[in-house]
Amino acid sequence: MLRLSLQVALPRPLPTPFDYLPPPGETADAGWVGCRVRVPLGRGEAVGVVIGTQVEARPPSTGSTAPSAALKPVIERLDARPLLAPDGEAWACLRFAARYYHAPFGQVWATALPAVLRDGGPLPQTHNLGWRLTPAGHSAFSGLRAGRPKSLASALAAFGVDGAPEARLDLDQPGWRPAARALAQRGLAETVALDARLRAAHAGPELNSAQCSAVAAITGSVGFAPILLDGVTGSGKTEVYLEAIRHALASGRQALLLVPEIGLTAQTVARLQRGLPVEVHALHSGLADGERARAWAAMVSGHGRVLVGTRSAVFCPLPEAGLIVIDEEHDASYKQQDGIRYHARDLALWRGQQLRVPVVLGSATPALETQRLVLAGRCLRLVLPARASAGAKAPSVRIIDVRKRRLEAGLSPELLEALEQTLARGEQALVFRNRRGYAPVLLCHDCGWSAPCKRCDASLTVHAGGKRLVCHHCGYRAAIPKACPDCASLALQPQGQGTERVEEALATRFPDARIVRVDRDTTAVRDGLAKKLAELGDGPGIFVGTQMLAKGHDLPRLTLSAVVSMDEGLFSADFRAGERLGQLLVQVAGRAGRAARPGQVLVQTHHPEHPWLALLLSGGYGALSAALLAEREGAALPPFAHWALLRAEATEAAAAEAFLAAARGHLLSIAGDGERISGLDWAGPVPAPMPRRAGRARAQLLLRAGERRALQAALGAALEGWYALPEARRVRWSLDVDPIDLY
Ligand code: ADP
Ligand code: ZN
Ligand code: ZN
Repeated sequence: MLRLSLQVALPRPLPTPFDYLPPPGETADAGWVGCRVRVPLGRGEAVGVVIGTQVEARPPSTGSTAPSAALKPVIERLDARPLLAPDGEAWACLRFAARYYHAPFGQVWATALPAVLRDGGPLPQTHNLGWRLTPAGHSAFSGLRAGRPKSLASALAAFGVDGAPEARLDLDQPGWRPAARALAQRGLAETVALDARLRAAHAGPELNSAQCSAVAAITGSVGFAPILLDGVTGSGKTEVYLEAIRHALASGRQALLLVPEIGLTAQTVARLQRGLPVEVHALHSGLADGERARAWAAMVSGHGRVLVGTRSAVFCPLPEAGLIVIDEEHDASYKQQDGIRYHARDLALWRGQQLRVPVVLGSATPALETQRLVLAGRCLRLVLPARASAGAKAPSVRIIDVRKRRLEAGLSPELLEALEQTLARGEQALVFRNRRGYAPVLLCHDCGWSAPCKRCDASLTVHAGGKRLVCHHCGYRAAIPKACPDCASLALQPQGQGTERVEEALATRFPDARIVRVDRDTTAVRDGLAKKLAELGDGPGIFVGTQMLAKGHDLPRLTLSAVVSMDEGLFSADFRAGERLGQLLVQVAGRAGRAARPGQVLVQTHHPEHPWLALLLSGGYGALSAALLAEREGAALPPFAHWALLRAEATEAAAAEAFLAAARGHLLSIAGDGERISGLDWAGPVPAPMPRRAGRARAQLLLRAGERRALQAALGAALEGWYALPEARRVRWSLDVDPIDLY
């Protein structure tokens, strides 16, 4: 008799699913599809998802790996009903991502789920619950011993009888649940069902006419509508999102808003929460596992109406979707750089199409990919031309030519003077330097030796005020050598400036000023960015930092943005360097003068005549990006061509290159197989731009096609053969479709 087996996708880099039998006494039927199962794997266990059933005895050509004689039964079925319905849009999105990025479905599925669910945990309950103090709690809380229960009780007291929503507590009082349980056990606190519709919402400013037309265009669109909201920094894009979300809520729909940076979620959630009558959920990797699972579950169940999240939130199911917004859509962090290398903006557009909802891409500096869509008539462009708040104007920009100038830790007298005046006026300044650490290089002044990483083809960065060397690529750390290992000279000098050194110089120059450094090193703790940004409050002071500072923060007291140097970006080999530089400069400039006080921007450079700077100054980002787009078209670079990068790394460079050569050979061997790879062209194998990293040799093969379809067809035809290549066993390899970082 024919029995059915279960095809289980596992979160492993394996091209095909595994087959398992249902547990003894149960039959495999369609009801299993989409359910999670715990299965034996090797000597251990794994959690996977059932993606289909099939007749157990079948010819080996179907691709599943386990021969039917060896089929093992599933250990445990984890869901009675599928987490994601196999006929639903969220599941289809995973299918699409697996197909488009040529990635194993099990890995895409694991990337999309919060860790708790991926590991087999239950779907959390998401009744819309809040917590409040009982009458006993109200009279007793001030007498409690200092500690977490007491601080939670004080927070609850402020919320009164309506109670504090759990999501709110997740934000304000991370890890609050044990304290809540302790209070409840003593009869001091209790849960309360929240009526989501009864929350008070602030109306916000009256929208100006550009904002009103934008809202009308978004809410008036029928079905799928890709929309670029091209608005200068401070033009009120967030207010437009808010109004469009209100509209979605009023029609009984859910909304998803993606932000590029974990550090931005708190500010955005707070702003949305103030303006919306429902609870705003957050989903990002800065939250505890349980909180993430709850936010996800809330959206699945429909209790959650609004979700703010980072990249991976793009996979969150939205059974009643009404609107998707990608804020700062140009931001490179929407592209995942390891594992499944998906682009959240592209997936959001795909989902919008399936869900038939508008997808709003907001930016002051739209990606060239998005601008191309606009030019091709495939995306509507809405413009917010001016700053929104009363009195706010575009800041004035001045280039400071620092050639032959005496600089203090890279800072020119003009820049220092402008900082001094800003502080004297009681205002805040931002000093931008896109290098963390003390100095990018440790140099021997006598022989030119510079400290290299032993494991990477890269210099070590000087850290800790000049006491330590750190590799930014592999994490290697070393003490500063006493003498040059090549010539024994003692003249070892930190060369150039990182944020630490700029901070040090500013502290010396302005001993009484408050200086706050904002980079990966100072914001590694939970909510680190928000805490750092809050440090100056309303008082005068200086922020020093990396691109973290450039992204969408609203700092009303900030009137001066100063760029120490961006000259590296002017001569980078990366064809996206001009676009990135323009975006960064405009975003940094956009931090200044967002409220009533006028803003000023200073940019130090050794190349004041560089054409990119000239274009930015004369015509803004629009002029620069138009020129860059024309250049890309002329050179047949993305977005006018479609790329995929096959990467390989191994202990020996020869092994990595041998795999790529074999992969290319395989592609050529199937070229005769119909028209499938016509229009394809390749470069490589060549060593990666950083040929050695963390002790491993790296190489790459670039595949290019004028048509996306040709590239996809070639990858689809070649992939299975690549997995099977004998050379593949000696390397780690990965495929990056639409790569944005070539390293
Ligand atoms: P963006 O998201 O485009 O950078 P925001 O939405 O953060 O801009 O708005 C910038 C500032 O302008 C905020 O302080 C916001 O409250 C204010 N603002 C936005 N729209 C208006 C408006 N129509 N009238 C007055 N102030 C506004
Ligand atoms: Zn030396
Ligand atoms: Zn290294």
